[in-house]
Amino acid sequence: MRRQVQEWITDLLEGFYPKDEERDFNLKLEWKHGQLESYIRITKDKVAFGYGAIQWHGPHSPVSTKIEKYSLDWKELELENDKSEVLLDYMMKTINCRKRQYRSCQFCQKKFPPEHRFDSKTCHVCASNEYFVVY
Ligand SMILES: [Zn+2]
Repeated sequence: MRRQVQEWITDLLEGFYPKDEERDFNLKLEWKHGQLESYIRITKDKVAFGYGAIQWHGPHSPVSTKIEKYSLDWKELELENDKSEVLLDYMMKTINCRKRQYRSCQFCQKKFPPEHRFDSKTCHVCASNEYFVVY
């Protein structure tokens, strides 16, 4: 996965400079437990790193959201000799942080993200099958 992120960053670096308008570069990665979404956001002053998740606005209204994990000033980044290495490290830290949030379901044994959690050991799908919870 690291290699895939590295290639993505290499491509990204060509258009990588401060922007007046906030701009997101999104990266989707296939993981054995599902798709992982992460992004780099650049603004005039900062470079931020985060991941995509789902927020529930009521039981039937999932909303995609972005959660920022780290941010760097452009000034800090400019001082680095190897920008791609720095970006890669932050991206990997962000992605690994997201992976660590996943838990195994006690019924289906699949790993699921916190937003699909009925409780710490049960995913939504199994909660509706096993406990007759309706979503
Ligand atoms: Zn399950």
